[in-house]
Amino acid sequence: MIRFERVTKRFGDHTVLDGLDLTVAPGERVTLIGPSGSGKTTILRLLMTLERVTDGVIHVDGKPFSHMPTGPGGRLVPASERYLTPRRRRIGMVFQQFNLFPHMTVLANVTEAPVHVLGLDKDEAARRARDLLDLVGLADKHDAHPTRLSGGQQQRVAIARALAMRPEILLLDEVTSALDPELVAEVLDVLREVARTTDITMLCVTHEMGFARDISDRIMMFDHGRVLESGPPQRLLDAPEHERTRAFLRAVR
Ligand code: ATP
Repeated sequence: MIRFERVTKRFGDHTVLDGLDLTVAPGERVTLIGPSGSGKTTILRLLMTLERVTDGVIHVDGKPFSHMPTGPGGRLVPASERYLTPRRRRIGMVFQQFNLFPHMTVLANVTEAPVHVLGLDKDEAARRARDLLDLVGLADKHDAHPTRLSGGQQQRVAIARALAMRPEILLLDEVTSALDPELVAEVLDVLREVARTTDITMLCVTHEMGFARDISDRIMMFDHGRVLESGPPQRLLDAPEHERTRAFLRAVR
């Protein structure tokens, strides 16, 4: 369970999120939509602790995540790196840019963190990596270097790499935005398969409404750092309540 409790995020005097309350249930698939600058990516980056909250608290599985309890009264203070490191491992993120290690083979990209962070045996990590590369349709590319792959293939390696850490939560930040249009479908198909075959909690920012409809339990429409409306895909996409949502959907379709 992910819970944002009155989370505010400011960059200088620019308030991006303003007292946001948000809950995502275990195994739930939630898609965040909304205009550019409405704070969607910031929500994922706060969860990945790439940014720190200005105010409010993020909880994961009923325990503070952005903060840690300290002292006899359990007063909450911003989480230290030491507190965060083991907790952060439960969250995987796939970015718009694939961020693969260019000097390593595909297999080494996928085994790197399980071996060096989780301490997995090399053979066991390689076995799991092969299974994941099968899942993303890259069984024949183990020994290739990322630079020899298409953008769609690189993004599929990035998905396998995130899954190799066995995350409980997967964050997807506009994972098809940097791809040529003809490569988008192969990446979305892989993610549909991940959604179908796992119970990972997924939080996804995308402009691909067909994909959002297929995988989401719930879609949340953001505007100026607030949830304008939220509901099951069919309700939100086919019968939005707000004119702002209707205008946004017209623009992205
Ligand atoms: P997009 O669809 O364009 O990615 P978004 O809804 O994901 O938009 P965010 O990326 O969360 O929006 O950004 C929200 C606002 O915060 C934007 O105005 C952005 O310029 C600002 N912002 C984000 N990161 C930083 C930063 N590190 N420093 C300053 N401002 C930032």
